[in-house]
Amino acid sequence: PMYLGGDWSEATSGGWFEVVDPATLQIIGEVPQGGTEEARQAVEAAATAFPGWASLSGRERSRYLLQISEKMRRATDEIASQITAEAGKPLKQARDEARSASAYMGWYGEEAKRLYGQYIPSAQRDKRVMVIRKPVGVVAAITPWNFPLGLLVRKVAAALAAGCTVVCKPAPETPLVALLFARLCQEAGLPAGVLNVITGDAEAIGQVWLSDSRVRALSFTGSNEVGKILARKAADRLLRVSLELGGSAPYIVFDDAGLDAAIAGLFKSKIRNAGQVCAAPNRIYVQSGLYENFLAALKKMVQSVKIGNGFHPESQMGPLINEAGYRKVESMVGEVKEQGAQIFEGGTLVGEPDDHQGWFYLPQIVTGLSENSQLVQQEAFGPVFPVLPFKDEKEVVERANRSPYGLGAYVFTRNVNRTFRLAEQLEVGILGINDPLPAAIEAPFGGIKESGYGRESGAAGLNDFVEERTVSIQLMDDLSE
Ligand code: ADP
Repeated sequence: PMYLGGDWSEATSGGWFEVVDPATLQIIGEVPQGGTEEARQAVEAAATAFPGWASLSGRERSRYLLQISEKMRRATDEIASQITAEAGKPLKQARDEARSASAYMGWYGEEAKRLYGQYIPSAQRDKRVMVIRKPVGVVAAITPWNFPLGLLVRKVAAALAAGCTVVCKPAPETPLVALLFARLCQEAGLPAGVLNVITGDAEAIGQVWLSDSRVRALSFTGSNEVGKILARKAADRLLRVSLELGGSAPYIVFDDAGLDAAIAGLFKSKIRNAGQVCAAPNRIYVQSGLYENFLAALKKMVQSVKIGNGFHPESQMGPLINEAGYRKVESMVGEVKEQGAQIFEGGTLVGEPDDHQGWFYLPQIVTGLSENSQLVQQEAFGPVFPVLPFKDEKEVVERANRSPYGLGAYVFTRNVNRTFRLAEQLEVGILGINDPLPAAIEAPFGGIKESGYGRESGAAGLNDFVEERTVSIQLMDDLSE
C-alpha cells in the first residue's frame, strides 16, 4: 500500500500495478494505482502537517532526520536487496546507494540546525534590516528509477530539513524501495503527513500537484521531455520548479593524462548502473597522441566486465531497466552503424540463463562517429562508449560546449593551468577533474542550459525549499543617544 497521512492505504480505484525485476522479468510486487484522488489526499495530509512541522526548531527537526538516517543505516541490507530486485543494479552498488542515502539524511539532519538568515547593515541610521528563511510549504517530489532511493532522499531530506512537508511519487519501475523508505520514516516517529508517498498515474498525480495552490514547490528528476512539460504547466501559477534533467556529458582525456586513471574512471562512471546515470560520460574525447593506446586499454576494460543478475556475486553490471530503455540504446547504436561507425562489443555474462531473461545490454565501444550523430549529442543511458579523437584544447572545449545540455563533464589531465582554464570554460553544473565521481553530499549538484535548474545537495540544496523574507525595522528611538 501507499503511505498517506501516516497510514497505509490502497487506491480508491482498487487498481494495482506490477513491479518487475528487470533481470529475471519476474513480478516481484504490486503497488496501488493511485491517481487524482490520492494526489489530493496527499496534499491535504501534507498541508495539515505543515504548520506543526514548520514550527519545530531546527534542532527538533534534526532529531527526526538523524533518527531516520540511523534506521536507514541499520536497514542497509534490506534496502540494497530491494534496490537490486527492482532496479537491477549489482548488490554492491545498491549498498553504496543505500549507505549514501542514509548519509544524506544525516547530513541534512545536521544542516536543519543551520538555516541561517542575514542581518544587513541598513543605509538608514534608524533602521535595522534582517532576512529570515522560511520553508516554502508543501513540496512535491517526482523521481526516476535509476537511483530509486538516492534521488528521492536528496529531495526529501533537504525539504524536511527546511521545514517543508512532502508529497512524492516514485517512478513506476521502482516504487518498492520508496515505500520501504516511508516505512522507516514512520518507524522513526516522523509525524503523520510530513512525508507522503503515493504510486500510480504519473500524469494525473502531476496535474493535481501542479494545480493545487497549497503545493509551493515541485522538485523533479527525470527526462528533459517531461521536465519541460512540467515547467510549462507550472508557469500557469508561477509554481517554483527545480529540474534535474539529462545531459550529454563530455569525458575529455588529454595526452598528458594518466591512462590507467582515465580508463578506471570510465569503469566507475559508465559501467556503474549500466550507464543509466544522468551525469554519466556520454561522449569520450581523446587527444590524438593518446588515442590508439586509449582505445586498446578501453577494449581490455570493456572485455573484462562481468554482466549478470545483480544478486550474482560476480556481477559488475546488471540489465537495463526495461525494453524501452534497451530499444533506445539499440536504435541509437544501430543508426550510427548504418552511417559507417565501428562497434566493438565486450563483456561476459555470468550466472544461469534464467537469470538473464531481462534486458541485458553488452557494453560497446563505438568509433568512426560523426560529431552530429544522435549517439554523441543525446543521452544514450546505456553502457555505450562513443570515442572521438581531438587535436587541441580550444577545439575540444568548443565541441564540448556546443551541446544544448550542461550537466556533467570530466577532464583527465596533469596540467594544472589547463585544470583552471577548463574549470572556468566548460559550460556545466558539475565537473570532475581526474575524478570520475564528482557528485558529493556536501556540494551542490545540478545542471545548466537544457539540463535544468535548481541545485540539490550541500547547503545550496536548501535554497529550493525556502523563501527569503526581508524584515525592515524602523526604530522609534535614536539608539545613539
Ligand atoms: P524516464 O524516461 O527516465 O523514465 P521520466 O521523465 O519519464 O523519465 O520519468 C521520471 C518521473 O516522472 C517518473 O516518476 C515518472 O512516472 C514521472 N512522469 C512521467 N511523465 C509524467 C507527467 N506527465 N507528469 C508527471 N510526472 C511524470
